[in-house]
Amino acid sequence: METSTEGAAEAPSSEVTPADAPVAVEPAEVAPSVDSAGTGPRVAIAPASLSPSRASDFMQCPLLYRFRVIDRLPEKPSEAATRGTLVHAVLERLFDAPAAERTAPRAKSLIPGQWDRLRESRPEVVELFEDDPQGERLARWLGEAEQLVERWFTLEDPTRLEPAERELFVQAELDSGLMLRGIIDRVDVAPTGEVRIVDYKTGKAPRPEYAEGALFQMKFYALVVWRLKNVVPRRLQLVYLGSGDVLTYDPVLADLERVERKLLALWEAIRQATESGDWRPRPTKLCGWCDHQAHCPEFGGTPPPYPLPVKAGE
Ligand code: SF4
Repeated sequence: METSTEGAAEAPSSEVTPADAPVAVEPAEVAPSVDSAGTGPRVAIAPASLSPSRASDFMQCPLLYRFRVIDRLPEKPSEAATRGTLVHAVLERLFDAPAAERTAPRAKSLIPGQWDRLRESRPEVVELFEDDPQGERLARWLGEAEQLVERWFTLEDPTRLEPAERELFVQAELDSGLMLRGIIDRVDVAPTGEVRIVDYKTGKAPRPEYAEGALFQMKFYALVVWRLKNVVPRRLQLVYLGSGDVLTYDPVLADLERVERKLLALWEAIRQATESGDWRPRPTKLCGWCDHQAHCPEFGGTPPPYPLPVKAGE
Protein backbone atom coordinates (compact mmCIF):
# COMPACT_ATOMS: atom_id res chain seq x y z
CA MET A 1 0.00 0.00 0.00
CA GLU A 2 1.06 3.51 -0.46
CA THR A 3 3.68 4.78 1.91
CA SER A 4 5.92 7.78 1.92
CA THR A 5 8.14 6.38 -0.81
CA GLU A 6 7.25 5.71 -4.38
CA GLY A 7 8.96 2.36 -4.66
CA ALA A 8 7.10 -0.32 -6.50
CA ALA A 9 7.23 -3.15 -4.08
CA GLU A 10 6.58 -1.93 -0.59
CA ALA A 11 5.01 -4.18 1.97
CA PRO A 12 1.66 -2.95 3.16
CA SER A 13 1.70 -1.23 6.47
CA SER A 14 -1.64 -1.84 7.99
CA GLU A 15 -3.02 -3.03 11.22
CA VAL A 16 -4.88 -6.11 10.22
CA THR A 17 -7.84 -7.86 11.68
CA PRO A 18 -9.69 -10.66 9.91
CA ALA A 19 -12.29 -8.16 8.75
CA ASP A 20 -9.54 -5.99 7.30
CA ALA A 21 -7.80 -8.79 5.48
CA PRO A 22 -7.21 -7.98 1.83
CA VAL A 23 -10.18 -9.77 0.36
CA ALA A 24 -12.60 -8.82 3.09
CA VAL A 25 -13.73 -5.43 2.00
CA GLU A 26 -13.82 -5.21 -1.70
CA PRO A 27 -16.57 -7.50 -2.86
CA ALA A 28 -16.18 -6.83 -6.53
CA GLU A 29 -12.46 -7.48 -6.40
CA VAL A 30 -12.28 -10.84 -4.69
CA ALA A 31 -9.70 -13.20 -6.05
CA PRO A 32 -10.80 -15.57 -8.79
CA SER A 33 -12.69 -18.62 -7.70
CA VAL A 34 -13.96 -19.73 -11.08
CA ASP A 35 -12.87 -23.25 -10.42
CA SER A 36 -13.87 -23.47 -6.80
CA ALA A 37 -16.48 -26.07 -7.65
CA GLY A 38 -13.87 -28.16 -9.41
CA THR A 39 -15.52 -27.62 -12.77
CA GLY A 40 -13.87 -26.05 -15.78
CA PRO A 41 -10.20 -25.47 -16.36
CA ARG A 42 -8.44 -22.44 -14.94
CA VAL A 43 -6.74 -20.51 -17.68
CA ALA A 44 -3.44 -18.77 -16.95
CA ILE A 45 -3.31 -15.24 -18.26
CA ALA A 46 -0.67 -12.54 -18.33
CA PRO A 47 -1.70 -9.44 -16.37
CA ALA A 48 -3.41 -6.90 -18.61
CA SER A 49 -4.70 -4.28 -16.21
CA LEU A 50 -4.39 -3.14 -12.64
CA SER A 51 -7.01 -2.69 -9.95
CA PRO A 52 -6.42 -1.35 -6.43
CA SER A 53 -6.84 -4.81 -4.91
CA ARG A 54 -4.36 -6.48 -7.20
CA ALA A 55 -1.90 -3.60 -6.84
CA SER A 56 -2.13 -4.07 -3.08
CA ASP A 57 -1.63 -7.81 -3.54
CA PHE A 58 1.62 -7.25 -5.40
CA MET A 59 2.85 -4.76 -2.82
CA GLN A 60 1.97 -7.18 -0.05
CA CYS A 61 3.50 -10.26 -1.68
CA PRO A 62 4.45 -10.76 -5.35
CA LEU A 63 3.82 -14.50 -5.08
CA LEU A 64 0.30 -13.88 -3.81
CA TYR A 65 -0.29 -11.69 -6.85
CA ARG A 66 0.93 -14.49 -9.11
CA PHE A 67 -1.36 -17.04 -7.45
CA ARG A 68 -4.37 -14.79 -7.82
CA VAL A 69 -3.83 -13.15 -11.21
CA ILE A 70 -1.79 -15.64 -13.22
CA ASP A 71 -2.47 -19.07 -11.73
CA ARG A 72 -5.96 -18.01 -10.70
CA LEU A 73 -5.92 -20.45 -7.83
CA PRO A 74 -9.32 -20.74 -6.18
CA GLU A 75 -9.85 -19.30 -2.73
CA LYS A 76 -12.35 -20.26 -0.11
CA PRO A 77 -15.02 -17.70 0.70
CA SER A 78 -14.62 -16.17 4.15
CA GLU A 79 -17.30 -14.99 6.53
CA ALA A 80 -15.77 -11.51 6.73
CA ALA A 81 -15.47 -11.04 2.96
CA THR A 82 -18.96 -12.39 2.33
CA ARG A 83 -20.43 -10.17 5.04
CA GLY A 84 -18.71 -7.23 3.37
CA THR A 85 -20.29 -8.15 0.04
CA LEU A 86 -23.70 -8.44 1.67
CA VAL A 87 -23.46 -5.09 3.46
CA HIS A 88 -22.27 -3.33 0.31
CA ALA A 89 -25.25 -4.74 -1.59
CA VAL A 90 -27.68 -3.52 1.09
CA LEU A 91 -26.22 -0.01 1.14
CA GLU A 92 -26.35 0.17 -2.63
CA ARG A 93 -29.93 -1.05 -2.92
CA LEU A 94 -31.20 1.24 -0.17
CA PHE A 95 -30.81 4.18 -2.56
CA ASP A 96 -33.50 2.63 -4.78
CA ALA A 97 -36.00 3.83 -2.17
CA PRO A 98 -37.25 7.43 -2.05
CA ALA A 99 -35.03 9.57 0.18
CA ALA A 100 -37.46 9.75 3.10
CA GLU A 101 -37.70 5.94 3.25
CA ARG A 102 -33.98 5.31 3.55
CA THR A 103 -34.14 4.38 7.20
CA ALA A 104 -32.18 1.88 9.28
CA PRO A 105 -35.17 -0.52 9.61
CA ARG A 106 -35.66 -0.40 5.86
CA ALA A 107 -31.98 -1.11 5.27
CA LYS A 108 -31.96 -4.03 7.70
CA SER A 109 -35.07 -5.45 6.05
CA LEU A 110 -33.08 -5.72 2.82
CA ILE A 111 -30.54 -8.12 4.34
CA PRO A 112 -32.43 -11.44 3.92
CA GLY A 113 -33.26 -10.75 0.28
CA GLN A 114 -29.72 -9.65 -0.55
CA TRP A 115 -28.36 -12.75 1.21
CA ASP A 116 -30.63 -14.89 -1.01
CA ARG A 117 -29.35 -13.08 -4.09
CA LEU A 118 -25.76 -13.53 -3.03
CA ARG A 119 -26.24 -17.27 -2.57
CA GLU A 120 -27.75 -17.48 -6.05
CA SER A 121 -25.00 -15.49 -7.75
CA ARG A 122 -22.13 -17.06 -5.79
CA PRO A 123 -23.20 -20.57 -4.76
CA GLU A 124 -19.83 -21.20 -3.13
CA VAL A 125 -20.75 -18.97 -0.19
CA VAL A 126 -23.30 -21.58 0.89
CA GLU A 127 -20.44 -23.76 2.14
CA LEU A 128 -19.68 -21.14 4.80
CA PHE A 129 -22.57 -22.41 6.88
CA GLU A 130 -22.75 -26.05 5.84
CA ASP A 131 -21.61 -27.17 9.29
CA ASP A 132 -24.25 -25.06 11.00
CA PRO A 133 -27.43 -27.18 10.80
CA GLN A 134 -29.21 -25.22 13.55
CA GLY A 135 -28.44 -21.95 11.82
CA GLU A 136 -26.96 -20.41 14.98
CA ARG A 137 -23.75 -19.22 13.38
CA LEU A 138 -25.65 -17.91 10.37
CA ALA A 139 -28.03 -15.99 12.65
CA ARG A 140 -25.08 -14.46 14.49
CA TRP A 141 -23.38 -13.57 11.20
CA LEU A 142 -26.54 -11.94 9.86
CA GLY A 143 -26.82 -10.05 13.15
CA GLU A 144 -23.31 -8.70 12.67
CA ALA A 145 -24.27 -7.56 9.18
CA GLU A 146 -27.26 -5.76 10.72
CA GLN A 147 -24.99 -3.99 13.20
CA LEU A 148 -22.71 -2.79 10.41
CA VAL A 149 -25.67 -1.50 8.41
CA GLU A 150 -27.10 0.20 11.48
CA ARG A 151 -23.77 1.88 12.26
CA TRP A 152 -23.72 3.45 8.82
CA PHE A 153 -26.67 5.61 9.88
CA THR A 154 -24.53 7.13 12.63
CA LEU A 155 -21.94 8.16 10.02
CA GLU A 156 -23.99 9.29 7.03
CA ASP A 157 -27.59 10.30 6.43
CA PRO A 158 -28.86 8.64 3.25
CA THR A 159 -32.04 10.72 3.32
CA ARG A 160 -29.83 13.71 2.46
CA LEU A 161 -27.77 11.96 -0.21
CA GLU A 162 -28.55 11.45 -3.87
CA PRO A 163 -25.61 9.50 -5.29
CA ALA A 164 -24.66 10.18 -8.87
CA GLU A 165 -23.34 6.63 -9.15
CA ARG A 166 -23.34 3.43 -7.13
CA GLU A 167 -21.04 0.44 -7.67
CA LEU A 168 -19.55 2.28 -10.62
CA PHE A 169 -17.16 0.31 -12.81
CA VAL A 170 -14.39 2.62 -14.00
CA GLN A 171 -11.57 1.99 -16.41
CA ALA A 172 -8.97 4.34 -17.83
CA GLU A 173 -5.84 3.92 -19.87
CA LEU A 174 -2.75 5.87 -18.91
CA ASP A 175 -0.49 7.38 -21.57
CA SER A 176 1.88 4.45 -21.05
CA GLY A 177 -0.88 2.03 -22.06
CA LEU A 178 -1.42 0.75 -18.53
CA MET A 179 -5.10 0.06 -18.01
CA LEU A 180 -6.48 0.92 -14.58
CA ARG A 181 -9.85 -0.36 -13.48
CA GLY A 182 -11.95 -0.72 -10.40
CA ILE A 183 -15.38 -0.37 -8.88
CA ILE A 184 -16.26 2.71 -6.83
CA ASP A 185 -18.89 2.18 -4.14
CA ARG A 186 -20.46 5.60 -4.46
CA VAL A 187 -19.90 8.85 -6.32
CA ASP A 188 -21.59 12.01 -5.08
CA VAL A 189 -21.66 15.13 -7.23
CA ALA A 190 -22.50 18.47 -5.64
CA PRO A 191 -24.62 21.05 -7.51
CA THR A 192 -21.35 22.95 -7.98
CA GLY A 193 -19.94 19.95 -9.83
CA GLU A 194 -17.53 18.89 -7.09
CA VAL A 195 -17.03 15.14 -6.97
CA ARG A 196 -16.79 13.01 -3.82
CA ILE A 197 -15.68 9.39 -4.02
CA VAL A 198 -16.97 7.20 -1.19
CA ASP A 199 -15.89 3.71 -0.22
CA TYR A 200 -17.45 1.57 2.51
CA LYS A 201 -15.22 -0.64 4.64
CA THR A 202 -16.71 -3.24 6.92
CA GLY A 203 -13.49 -3.47 8.91
CA LYS A 204 -12.05 -1.02 11.39
CA ALA A 205 -10.27 2.22 10.57
CA PRO A 206 -6.49 1.97 10.56
CA ARG A 207 -4.44 3.82 13.11
CA PRO A 208 -3.48 7.33 11.92
CA GLU A 209 0.06 6.27 11.01
CA TYR A 210 -1.42 3.76 8.54
CA ALA A 211 -4.00 6.10 7.01
CA GLU A 212 -1.84 6.75 3.96
CA GLY A 213 -1.96 3.08 3.07
CA ALA A 214 -5.72 3.06 3.43
CA LEU A 215 -5.99 6.05 1.07
CA PHE A 216 -4.02 4.33 -1.70
CA GLN A 217 -7.15 2.74 -3.16
CA MET A 218 -9.00 6.05 -3.05
CA LYS A 219 -6.21 7.94 -4.78
CA PHE A 220 -6.17 5.19 -7.40
CA TYR A 221 -9.87 5.84 -8.06
CA ALA A 222 -9.29 9.58 -8.05
CA LEU A 223 -6.61 9.12 -10.70
CA VAL A 224 -9.01 7.10 -12.85
CA VAL A 225 -11.76 9.71 -12.48
CA TRP A 226 -9.31 12.47 -13.31
CA ARG A 227 -8.18 10.59 -16.41
CA LEU A 228 -11.75 9.89 -17.48
CA LYS A 229 -13.40 13.23 -16.76
CA ASN A 230 -10.49 15.62 -16.36
CA VAL A 231 -11.79 16.49 -12.92
CA VAL A 232 -9.81 16.09 -9.70
CA PRO A 233 -12.28 14.75 -7.12
CA ARG A 234 -12.82 17.25 -4.35
CA ARG A 235 -12.94 14.66 -1.59
CA LEU A 236 -12.11 11.01 -0.95
CA GLN A 237 -14.11 9.45 1.85
CA LEU A 238 -13.63 6.09 3.55
CA VAL A 239 -16.53 5.01 5.75
CA TYR A 240 -15.46 2.39 8.30
CA LEU A 241 -18.53 0.55 9.47
CA GLY A 242 -16.52 -1.74 11.74
CA SER A 243 -15.34 1.05 14.02
CA GLY A 244 -17.69 3.90 13.14
CA ASP A 245 -15.04 6.19 11.66
CA VAL A 246 -14.94 8.34 8.56
CA LEU A 247 -11.58 9.10 6.98
CA THR A 248 -11.48 11.89 4.41
CA TYR A 249 -8.80 13.33 2.21
CA ASP A 250 -8.99 16.20 -0.26
CA PRO A 251 -6.57 15.37 -3.07
CA VAL A 252 -4.68 17.79 -5.26
CA LEU A 253 -3.32 17.15 -8.71
CA ALA A 254 0.16 16.41 -7.35
CA ASP A 255 -1.30 13.49 -5.33
CA LEU A 256 -2.70 11.93 -8.47
CA GLU A 257 0.51 12.45 -10.41
CA ARG A 258 2.40 10.81 -7.56
CA VAL A 259 0.10 7.81 -7.48
CA GLU A 260 0.38 7.51 -11.26
CA ARG A 261 4.17 7.33 -11.00
CA LYS A 262 3.87 4.77 -8.26
CA LEU A 263 1.52 2.62 -10.35
CA LEU A 264 3.80 2.81 -13.38
CA ALA A 265 6.71 1.61 -11.25
CA LEU A 266 4.55 -1.14 -9.82
CA TRP A 267 3.42 -2.22 -13.28
CA GLU A 268 7.00 -2.35 -14.48
CA ALA A 269 7.88 -4.62 -11.55
CA ILE A 270 4.89 -6.83 -12.41
CA ARG A 271 5.96 -6.94 -16.06
CA GLN A 272 9.46 -8.01 -15.12
CA ALA A 273 8.19 -10.72 -12.79
CA THR A 274 5.74 -11.95 -15.44
CA GLU A 275 8.50 -12.29 -18.01
CA SER A 276 11.09 -13.80 -15.69
CA GLY A 277 8.72 -16.01 -13.72
CA ASP A 278 10.44 -14.72 -10.58
CA TRP A 279 7.65 -14.13 -8.10
CA ARG A 280 9.10 -13.81 -4.62
CA PRO A 281 7.10 -14.61 -1.50
CA ARG A 282 7.12 -11.84 1.06
CA PRO A 283 5.95 -13.23 4.38
CA THR A 284 4.17 -10.87 6.75
CA LYS A 285 1.52 -11.24 9.41
CA LEU A 286 -0.99 -11.14 6.55
CA CYS A 287 0.10 -14.69 5.63
CA GLY A 288 -2.35 -15.82 8.28
CA TRP A 289 -5.17 -14.94 5.87
CA CYS A 290 -3.53 -16.31 2.75
CA ASP A 291 -5.28 -19.30 1.18
CA HIS A 292 -2.12 -20.42 -0.58
CA GLN A 293 0.24 -21.52 2.14
CA ALA A 294 0.18 -25.07 0.70
CA HIS A 295 1.76 -23.66 -2.47
CA CYS A 296 4.08 -21.21 -0.74
CA PRO A 297 7.78 -22.00 -0.19
CA GLU A 298 7.67 -19.95 3.01
CA PHE A 299 5.35 -22.60 4.42
CA GLY A 300 7.06 -25.64 2.91
CA GLY A 301 4.87 -25.68 -0.20
CA THR A 302 5.69 -25.68 -3.90
CA PRO A 303 4.07 -23.33 -6.41
CA PRO A 304 2.40 -24.96 -9.40
CA PRO A 305 4.50 -25.03 -12.61
CA TYR A 306 4.71 -21.51 -14.01
CA PRO A 307 2.09 -21.42 -16.75
CA LEU A 308 3.43 -18.53 -18.83
CA PRO A 309 6.45 -18.47 -21.16
CA VAL A 310 9.66 -17.22 -19.53
CA LYS A 311 11.85 -14.91 -21.55
CA ALA A 312 15.40 -16.17 -21.99
CA GLY A 313 17.95 -14.09 -20.08
CA GLU A 314 15.38 -12.76 -17.60
S1 SF4 B 1 1.61 -17.36 2.54
FE1 SF4 B 1 2.44 -15.26 2.72
S2 SF4 B 1 4.39 -15.31 1.60
FE2 SF4 B 1 3.19 -17.11 0.98
S3 SF4 B 1 2.08 -16.50 -0.87
FE3 SF4 B 1 0.73 -16.17 0.86
S4 SF4 B 1 1.07 -14.02 1.42
FE4 SF4 B 1 2.81 -14.64 0.16
